[in-house]
Amino acid sequence: MKLSDVFNKLYKVICKDTGDRNESSKLIIVTRMLMLTIIVYSLINSILFLPVPSTGGRIFFNVSMIVFLGIFVMSYYQRTLATYYILNLSMLVWVVVNVRLFGWDIGVQHFIFVLLVFCFFARYRQEHIKIAYVLVLLILRLYLFFYCQNNAPDIIVAENIIYKYQLLNSFVIFWSLSMLAYFFSTDTQALEGKLIEYNQQLKTQASIDPLTGLHNRRSTIEYLEGLLASAERAVSICLCDIDLFKRINDTYGHNVGDTVLQELARTFGRELPAGSFVSRWGGEEFLLIFPDINGDEAKIALETLRQKIKAIVFDGESETFSISLTFGLVEYDFQSNLTAILKEADEKLYLGKESGRDRIIF
Ligand code: GH3
Ligand code: MG
Ligand code: MG
Repeated sequence: MKLSDVFNKLYKVICKDTGDRNESSKLIIVTRMLMLTIIVYSLINSILFLPVPSTGGRIFFNVSMIVFLGIFVMSYYQRTLATYYILNLSMLVWVVVNVRLFGWDIGVQHFIFVLLVFCFFARYRQEHIKIAYVLVLLILRLYLFFYCQNNAPDIIVAENIIYKYQLLNSFVIFWSLSMLAYFFSTDTQALEGKLIEYNQQLKTQASIDPLTGLHNRRSTIEYLEGLLASAERAVSICLCDIDLFKRINDTYGHNVGDTVLQELARTFGRELPAGSFVSRWGGEEFLLIFPDINGDEAKIALETLRQKIKAIVFDGESETFSISLTFGLVEYDFQSNLTAILKEADEKLYLGKESGRDRIIF
């Protein structure tokens, strides 16, 4: 078996889900990683302690290994939360026994910080339980400190072994904290990224007409209110409507009608002056807004547009056809409110329809 196969298998074992849909798979992965860390750590320690004449240390490390291995195996049969709580409790006991056996200088008490970070990131909410747990951890650390001040370690080991043990502790605690930070921060960052993207999508969905990609009525009103409130130069507004569009739908089908609307949207984008705001006001009606352009200038631009639109040849499958639009154009007088302006544009559009369509009324 190749080394990569071993790692692959181990990875699968660590990632294996609990099958309980209510519990996060990330939590069980981190819990297992932490257990695996303690198992490997105990294994290295029991090798490290081989030269020590007293067997107490090695027995402790072997027992630790068996206990954490047991919890590791249990994580496949128990639910994630049970494993999480049992691991926390076992680690607390393990830290206490460790410090009492080998003393304060070894540095195992720093695992308390690992537990603190673990408890804060592993579970959402439950703030008061977390705060209570922080107090328990603090009291435990103080207890261990004062205990070590007044009591010698149960197992006295040679300086060179203490030195290696301290180094190992530094590495393992550093690794455990980095691992926790990595797992929980990447998750949060990915989530934040998704949220920003999702918000952007929602915003776009709420302001854009899906068929034509033009601004919808809601975002247009928002834009117009802002524009008119701060207008210092001319603003022209035009409501236009496809002539006899119902007949096009009836003759060539609704899908062809849709492609007409889409092609019109593209033509507006191509032909209207830069800075124009184009919106699908409703069905086959469009509202065109020209900031900084007066009514006469807008009329010239619209006349070009009207002719361009008439020149488009649409494919109706059995035959080709063309369309025309009627336009109701108004220039903002710096007094009227939005409702009055829109009413005036609508009246002009109606007038255009009444007087034969395919024209601009200004
Ligand atoms: P007029 O010249 O007086 O405006 O006549 P018209 O036929 O265009 O007006 P009418 O209001 O009678 O019909 C508008 C049609 O527009 C009816 C409706 O089916 C069609 N329509 C509205 N929205 C859409 C759409 O999204 N796609 C398609 N294909 N048709 C639409
Ligand atoms: Mg129409
Ligand atoms: Mg209409």
